[in-house]
Amino acid sequence: ADTLAYAKSKIRDIPDFPSPGILFKDITPLLADPRAFHIVLDSIAERFIGSHVDAVVGVEARGFIFGGALAARLNASFVPARKPGKLPAKSDRVSYKTEYSVAELEMHVGSIPQGARVLVVDDVLATGGTAKAAAELVTTQGGNVVAFAFVIELGFLGGRRVLEPSRIESVMAY
Ligand code: IMP
Repeated sequence: ADTLAYAKSKIRDIPDFPSPGILFKDITPLLADPRAFHIVLDSIAERFIGSHVDAVVGVEARGFIFGGALAARLNASFVPARKPGKLPAKSDRVSYKTEYSVAELEMHVGSIPQGARVLVVDDVLATGGTAKAAAELVTTQGGNVVAFAFVIELGFLGGRRVLEPSRIESVMAY
C-alpha cells in the first residue's frame, strides 16, 4: 500500500486540459520514475498470475506504454488499437461516442486468434467508451475479453458500469 501511495504521488493534476473545467491526470511523472512505473506494472501483472492471457490490447497512445510492458511480463502478444488512419494493413473499425464527439478505433484484421483470451489495457478509465470500443474490436475478431486493466479509474465518471460484468482492475482510483 505504501508502494501504491508512492506511485500515486507521481500522478500530476493539470487543470483545464484538454478543455476548461477538466482536471487531467498526467502520467508522465510516473513514467519518468522507474520505481513508480515498476510498482504499477507489478500491481497489474500480479493480478493475472495463473489466469492465462493470450494477447494484450493497448489503446493508443498511453495504453501502448503500459500494455506493451505488460504483454512482455505476461508472455502474451501485444496488439495495438489505434486512432483511424494509422494502421497500414486492412483493419476493422469501430465508432463510439465520447463526452463531446464521435471517435473511432481500428485494429488490424486477424490480430486476435479465435477464442483468444484478451486483456484490454489503457492508462485511464473515464466514461468507459474507449475501452468498450476496444473490446468490441476484440469480439468482432472472435476473441474473448477476460478483463480490462487501467492505471487510473475516475470512479465519478461511471466507466465501470459501462464495462461490467467484465472483470475490471485498476491500480489507483479517484
Ligand atoms: P473514456 O472513453 O471516457 O473512458 O476515456 C478514456 C480515454 O481518454 C483513455 O484513452 C484515456 O487515455 C483518456 N483520458 C480521459 N481522461 C484522462 C485523463 O484525465 N488523463 C489521461 N487520459 C485521459
